[in-house]
Amino acid sequence: MKKISLLIQTTIMCSIFFTISAFSQETNLRIPIEKNTKSRTNEASLVLLQIKGDFFYEDLNDSWTDSSFYALLDRQIEDGFGYMEYWDTDKTVQYLYDTYATTDEKRDKYDNLIGEEEKTAQVIETKPLDVFKVVKSLWRPLRRLGFTGTKLKGNPKAINNACFICVPNMAEVQKGFIITNPRNNAPYVALCNPFQILKNHVTLALIEHKKQGMPTERAKFILNLVKKLDKFRFGFNSLSAGASIREHAHFHGADEALPIEHIAQEEIYKDSSFILSQLDKNIWPNAVYVAEGSEEKITEFIMHMINSLDKNFASEEEKAFNILFTRSDQGDLKAYFIPRRKETPGGFKGMFGFCEMCGLSLCERTKDYRNIKEESLRKALLECGRYPNDSALIEIIEDFVALQTESANSNNPTINVIPKNKADI
Ligand SMILES: [Zn+2]
Repeated sequence: MKKISLLIQTTIMCSIFFTISAFSQETNLRIPIEKNTKSRTNEASLVLLQIKGDFFYEDLNDSWTDSSFYALLDRQIEDGFGYMEYWDTDKTVQYLYDTYATTDEKRDKYDNLIGEEEKTAQVIETKPLDVFKVVKSLWRPLRRLGFTGTKLKGNPKAINNACFICVPNMAEVQKGFIITNPRNNAPYVALCNPFQILKNHVTLALIEHKKQGMPTERAKFILNLVKKLDKFRFGFNSLSAGASIREHAHFHGADEALPIEHIAQEEIYKDSSFILSQLDKNIWPNAVYVAEGSEEKITEFIMHMINSLDKNFASEEEKAFNILFTRSDQGDLKAYFIPRRKETPGGFKGMFGFCEMCGLSLCERTKDYRNIKEESLRKALLECGRYPNDSALIEIIEDFVALQTESANSNNPTINVIPKNKADI
């Protein structure tokens, strides 16, 4: 069970392997780059990517099921990438020392990361905090103990600045499977996240190294995928909203419902295929809009929000947003759109991404976990998000409702449209 040392050894061996044989033994695959479906430059847009021939669990490719994500996680744990005992609440830090910090050098490093008071602490703990949830994970400092599983660090053959979600940069131990966007043939790769924040945490990255962002085709793709799944939902962090890898488009997936999904909603607009709501302002501190219904309408709403933020605000932080793509209890598609204005709140060390903005906070120290207060989380969400009564947001929502009302009335004059007045939004 000495997985870390095995991983490090494997990584060193992989680096040697890559230095010597580099990509010469790889299969060259022609992969279409992500493009707008309206584009007619199919041939010109083909890009040559060098992919390790044995990287993919080929039997899982394009299966579009929850079970393919579970199979990915199971196989990666079996292969030594990821940890089966990650969520075991009976493990203490001593177990991590015994299992992973096996040399004096690693023990010294780990001592610095963990702190004396943590040695007898439980590795994983979770607790509710009013409407929020707090997770303590002492696995995460282990990441800094020399875990280099995915990077070809310092290797001249590494591409895109050694980006660790670029497939050609990944170590032998890491594998994934492909899901192709049928609308534009852009392939994504599903990967196991070995240091989970959410249960059964996976990363879904565009194969092509292309900047994080949410063009229409990506929104439609992820909605299409979520519609086909029962358990996994996906979160998105825009630039300046917790995106840890800014230069490579990706989503985070997990099979765990986030606190925000249990919050009551106030309806703003409804027609036969779409409902737009806002989270109850008396319960949730910051503005969160909930779009439910058809994939087309949800995409239209998301694009309206992104384009309007872009038009109305100057800084990257003010244009930032998070989205949680999930399903209602009835199985209908649902997207939570969270406008942002700050990435890291005062008093917190880390950036707030969609997890935190959806009500789940992570602590890497037992004392932080014990001391975290509901009021400080409310304050942080309000600081990072936008006020529910933000006048610019109200105008953006009113514009969207006006467009919908216009189009609903022209299509079907008897339809029941419920736009709320400004004070109610
Ligand atoms: Zn990349």
